[in-house]
Amino acid sequence: MASATPTTLKIEGAAFAVTLDPARRVIADASVLVDGQRIARIGKADDLREVQAERTIDAHGCVLLPAFVNGHMHISYAHAVRGNFPDDFVGRERLREVFRLQSAMREEEEYWTSLLAIVELLKSGTVTFVDPGSTRFVDACLQAYSDSGARVISGTCVVDRESDLALPRFETPEALKRTAEFIRAYDGRLDGRLRAWAMPFSPDTCSSELLSGAHRVADEHGTWMTIHHYGGTTAQLDNIGALGSNVLLAHAPGISDDEVELIAARGASVVMCPSTTLKEGSRLGDRKLPELLARGVPVGLGCDSANSSNFLDGVRMMNAAALGFKDGRGDVAFVPAEQAVELATLTGARAVGLGSEIGSLEVGKKADLIVFDALRAEWRSLLDPLNNLVYSADGRSVRYVVADGRVVVDDGQVTFADERQVAERVQAISEELLARTGTRVNKGRWPIV
Ligand SMILES: [Zn+2]
Repeated sequence: MASATPTTLKIEGAAFAVTLDPARRVIADASVLVDGQRIARIGKADDLREVQAERTIDAHGCVLLPAFVNGHMHISYAHAVRGNFPDDFVGRERLREVFRLQSAMREEEEYWTSLLAIVELLKSGTVTFVDPGSTRFVDACLQAYSDSGARVISGTCVVDRESDLALPRFETPEALKRTAEFIRAYDGRLDGRLRAWAMPFSPDTCSSELLSGAHRVADEHGTWMTIHHYGGTTAQLDNIGALGSNVLLAHAPGISDDEVELIAARGASVVMCPSTTLKEGSRLGDRKLPELLARGVPVGLGCDSANSSNFLDGVRMMNAAALGFKDGRGDVAFVPAEQAVELATLTGARAVGLGSEIGSLEVGKKADLIVFDALRAEWRSLLDPLNNLVYSADGRSVRYVVADGRVVVDDGQVTFADERQVAERVQAISEELLARTGTRVNKGRWPIV
């Protein structure tokens, strides 16, 4: 169960601490002291030698990092039908299936699939994620959010136009009312770990009145808005007053250089999901991530869902960005390892409005951090921890995760759930959901005998 009891925790003698502080220091032979929810000290192990704590984690041979931020991660239904879409089943047809299945989820099912998603996220180093309105039964999921220690940014997905997608459609005033009610009900709960945003789905499914109204609701409540975005719609979003410094544009395929300028001028943020783009063969190299960063736009990374990108691993997410842009642009200068790490930590935190609280290992920041076990084959030889992290490792070497000062992954296992039991439960939900919805079951292309 969640506990807000302040405790001291010392992580002692790590091979490296990658701080993401303003100087981008990487501290060799490092220790960190956590007091309550925040980082109280970070420095050379020798300098913290005498510091005592209620719990000490021996981090010999380990690498410390700020926990990852996943800026676009639909966590609701996807674990129940992961792998049911063949890899050549993409585009509008796939989206129709996504929303047909998502809209069929029942309350208890959503609790278990969300819990499994959170287990997977935390075990691979992600503490903060934006669920772009995919969760229908937030009350049922609150326990999972609370127990896990995750920082969750949620919202209620609304549209007001006819669509071939089974999205929650309402008259415009009702859509806005629901948006405001959701924000008032959930924003700031769980000791501030739950944030609620406005989440109109996209420019083609929402009227200008809904988009501008949703942004106004976000402004009035001091919160943010996220929307699935694409090229050619940025000027319209701006004209109706729906583009601002509290807006996170998701995916953003096909945006032009002029749109990059407009996004930068308005101080908006962008999140991209490189692994989804790579898997769909939709040309990651054409995405304007390098140009947005060059103009100072905070860009985060996301994994989209367990049924599009398929993995939720924060390390593989960085790897996809680093490799995908090098190949896509035919130039090894794009998205170096250090930039990939920034996207998943500090820049990603800024992209969701949390840059002053999380995203780096600095005194006073919230204690959201990862201890990687680097005494594993894929981490050695360990000379440049950033290079090894992005290109050699994956999330399976995460040994401890601290979220809001609490150890939530302890020696490789989550502390708040029995992973195998949750996995079995979701398997049963999968079979029930596919049968109930008359969904064709993907058995793969090879015979299962
Ligand atoms: Zn999405």
